[in-house]
Amino acid sequence: MKGTFPIEQFSALRTPFYYYDTTLLRDTLDTINREAGRYPNFCVHYAVKANANPKVLRIIKESGLGADCVSGGEVRAALKAGFPAHKVVYAGVGKSDWEIELGLDNDIFCFNVESVPELEVINQLAAARGKVAHVAFRINPNVGAHTHANITTGLAENKFGIAMEDMDRVIDMAHTLPHVKFVGLHFHIGSQILDMSDFVALCNRVNQLQEQLVQRHIIVEHINVGGGLGIDYQHPNRQPIPDFAEYFATYHKHLKLYPGQTLHFELGRAVVGQCGTLVTRVLYVKQGSHKQFAIVDAGMTDLIRPALYQAYHKIENITSEAPAEAYDVVGPICESSDVFGKAIDLNRCQRGDLLALRSAGAYGEIMASGYNCRELPIGYLSEELK
Ligand SMILES: *Cc1c(COP(=O)(O)O)cnc(C)c1O
Repeated sequence: MKGTFPIEQFSALRTPFYYYDTTLLRDTLDTINREAGRYPNFCVHYAVKANANPKVLRIIKESGLGADCVSGGEVRAALKAGFPAHKVVYAGVGKSDWEIELGLDNDIFCFNVESVPELEVINQLAAARGKVAHVAFRINPNVGAHTHANITTGLAENKFGIAMEDMDRVIDMAHTLPHVKFVGLHFHIGSQILDMSDFVALCNRVNQLQEQLVQRHIIVEHINVGGGLGIDYQHPNRQPIPDFAEYFATYHKHLKLYPGQTLHFELGRAVVGQCGTLVTRVLYVKQGSHKQFAIVDAGMTDLIRPALYQAYHKIENITSEAPAEAYDVVGPICESSDVFGKAIDLNRCQRGDLLALRSAGAYGEIMASGYNCRELPIGYLSEELK
């Protein structure tokens, strides 16, 4: 089954471009709010890095989610889109001084701190402003996720977070610094996680660390378990809204919260992944000696996930009903890795056909680059094309 697209409106647009189905986006946000809303102490943030298109951000802001940022630029984009500063959290292993200052000047909710030297710098910069920065410690829980090696983040070998064995020492240190207030623990184990047992493993780890703290009479206000819920790239139409009921229920069941604690989530891919499509035009069909190529006008500069992580995106010819043939779908960039898919069955292609690369709403447009002096793709909302 193919997706349904406004082909007529598409034909007037310059390709390649991103297309965002805002009905699906809003339905997804409603589902998140409904399912998380079953648990009064759950609080959901949107991970801005998945897609920071201002029009998309504004819709997400309107739904009431907070913003999880990983750079000063993202903090700025979130504030510009209207996210209130008290719902902005900021993580990242390498925060520059200006980025920390931006967060301080805007009184963001919390810095997720990833090292001792960073904690000291935040304390200094906050002191210079006469402020007290709220900090949570990002702990590396040494929990693996069954996902692509490039997108696991919670193993001891990864650069992210503070080692578990250093947690007590870092908390003690925070208590000696007058311009930081320690408010919570933060975790994030990776991305495109579909196996709930990975999240259960994280819950068990958090429970263990919390017990360790409770023995020291420390109960933090906030636990943040990051994001990582995956989407179905193989079958974008089968369940376009991820199973948020199961996701939140897993945390409700397995993570032990103490009285007064809030549980925070930072979802990126699961919010925006399925609502986005990269639309590209077939430039040439080239017959090779063993196969045929559909050469399209989008490249790895527009959607890098296949080249970067061997990621799969379902490809459909949305302007042809002719019998299917197998194609290698490739872009125009001067790199052999500029391939969207090999031996892909597509309704027979001819020059001018439009192909849809599905499930491209997350880590698509935002990762576009100007390599080969290419222009960045434009993102259109479905409601703009009506
Ligand atoms: C990337 C990231 C997220 C979001 O990950 P998804 O897999 O898109 O849900 C959440 N928190 C942090 C700290 C991140 O770096």
